Amino acid sequence: MDAKHYEMLIVGAGLSGLTAAAYLSRAGYSVLVLEKTSACGGLLNSFTRDGYVFDAGARSIENSGIIRPMLKDLGLELELELVNSPVSIGVESEVIDIESKESIDRYRQALETLYPDNVDDVRKIFRVIDKVYKKMHVIYGFENPVFKNFKQDRKYLFTELLPWLPSFLLAVSSMERMNEPVETYLRKLSTNQSLIDIVDQHFFKRTPTFFALGYFYVYLDYLYPKGGTGMLAEKLKQKILDNGGHIQLDTEVMAVRPAQKVVVDAKGQSYSYDKLLWCADLKSLYRNVDTAGLGSDVVGEIAAQSDKVFAGRGGDSVFSLFLGVNQPTKAFANIAKGHIFYTPSRQGLGETHLSELKLLLAKGKGASKKEIFDWVATYCALTTYEISIPSLRDATLSPEGKTGLVVSFLLEYDLVRLVSDAGWLDEFKLCVEDGMIDTLNRSLFPGLLYEPELRFSASPLSLERRFGSSEGGITGWTFELPSPAVNKLPKIPKSVTTPMPDVLQCGQWAYSPAGIPTAAILTGWYAADKITTDAAKAAQQRSKVKKQG
Ligand SMILES: Cc1cc2nc3c(=O)[nH]c(=O)nc-3n(C[C@H](O)[C@H](O)[C@H](O)COP(=O)(O)OP(=O)(O)OC[C@H]3O[C@@H](n4cnc5c(N)ncnc54)[C@H](O)[C@@H]3O)c2cc1C
Repeated sequence: MDAKHYEMLIVGAGLSGLTAAAYLSRAGYSVLVLEKTSACGGLLNSFTRDGYVFDAGARSIENSGIIRPMLKDLGLELELELVNSPVSIGVESEVIDIESKESIDRYRQALETLYPDNVDDVRKIFRVIDKVYKKMHVIYGFENPVFKNFKQDRKYLFTELLPWLPSFLLAVSSMERMNEPVETYLRKLSTNQSLIDIVDQHFFKRTPTFFALGYFYVYLDYLYPKGGTGMLAEKLKQKILDNGGHIQLDTEVMAVRPAQKVVVDAKGQSYSYDKLLWCADLKSLYRNVDTAGLGSDVVGEIAAQSDKVFAGRGGDSVFSLFLGVNQPTKAFANIAKGHIFYTPSRQGLGETHLSELKLLLAKGKGASKKEIFDWVATYCALTTYEISIPSLRDATLSPEGKTGLVVSFLLEYDLVRLVSDAGWLDEFKLCVEDGMIDTLNRSLFPGLLYEPELRFSASPLSLERRFGSSEGGITGWTFELPSPAVNKLPKIPKSVTTPMPDVLQCGQWAYSPAGIPTAAILTGWYAADKITTDAAKAAQQRSKVKKQG
């Protein structure tokens, strides 16, 4: 088969690939996006089942000074209606709606009631949260300058950007100083492990303190696209097509040959390119790269980076349960907002997800079903749930008189892998689903979840198989250091480069800590910007040489 040629070939139609494609097609390049699955959006997608619309990835989207400015820059701000999406945080029967900065104080008071012997510790923790909140406001409360034309808009440059820069740099330096794992940091503020767990157990393992405690700012910054979170990907896709770009679904790239500037898909079709942008898992890039024809220096650099990538591991993953219940959305509105972080017991996870899990994993095949089911029961009773009710943000997303919910919690990939290898994954999934429903029926949603009319779930393995995300990682790499990705905000422009000639990378495997605004959208923008500015420089150079000649 003849190779199809495109100036820009983009692998992966997640948010990073779509962002890069939207900017590159706007710049006038011929663009083709190749996507393994049958839909755009990657880890950010919404789907409909029996009249319920569910969000499979992020339950809401943080604006972070990025989402709204990017939509405006691309002329999409009127195309996508975004509503504010407040969260509720709850422990046992204390549920606080976080609607303003004052609500954070009400959450502090709730914790003081739950831990009366640790009032001073709670106050110490919230003093730090307050400091981080202010810095987060500086970093993410300002519209990201990359989406502004600051070189031409002198007024913006002198009255907004330059005055903001010093406080931004100070906030970033605090961010870099507060990078120890939040669980270690909190141990300096309290010796009560239950209190520490309640504050930190819904963050990923070893989340840097600034990033974790900054979530109290993020909770007030969440947006929900009408129609579901996947509408953000839908609108970017439409923009690419309107710009004359192409998107090819159900196409998995299996080989990358940088010396020939060619990739080959699973059906044997090849595509040649001027620039390749890899916007998917990096282990698959390095597994599929063929270095034949490259110089020995480059081959050495690729081998060194490959070692780093394969030494890395996908970060935490989730188990998600999708439910459709015969209860009106109003019944849930009386309890909490549409995006909830809920812990059924003040006891906290303690060793459940540490030494007890480790013991179970160490037993491997020797771990009995009963031991694993007992562990699941304890985990369901103690862990923190993230619950999303789409129709509380957009009433059209559940059938009349009914409510769809997505109930999830972090779940160790290795445990699910163990069970799958032993051949009883379906039974395990049912056990986890039952544990979730039971726990919530007895706590946050008394009696509301009995006999759901629709029920199915996705495990970390589903995420790995569907999107090729290593270890089912939902936000790229773990926080273990050294990271294979750039992990300092000021260095983000460097995150898009690879040792392969004319191959760039972006997305959640290129920058850490990852998520939609920074790792997916900003790196997508930086990759497109690098290509267009490098091309402009090369053209300038050529015309200089021509004049001189
Ligand atoms: C349950 C859940 C909750 C989340 N919550 C939040 C949140 O609250 N806030 C937040 O910021 N982020 C959240 N995230 C993370 C966020 O959704 C991701 O970090 C982001 O969407 C990643 O975008 P990406 O483009 O980097 O990667 P992806 O979305 O993974 O896109 C990569 C794409 O490449 C495709 N692909 C892979 N290999 C190939 C190949 N060989 N050939 C062709 N195509 C290929 C995949 O199918 C996929 O579509 C959450 C994710 C999940 C799953």
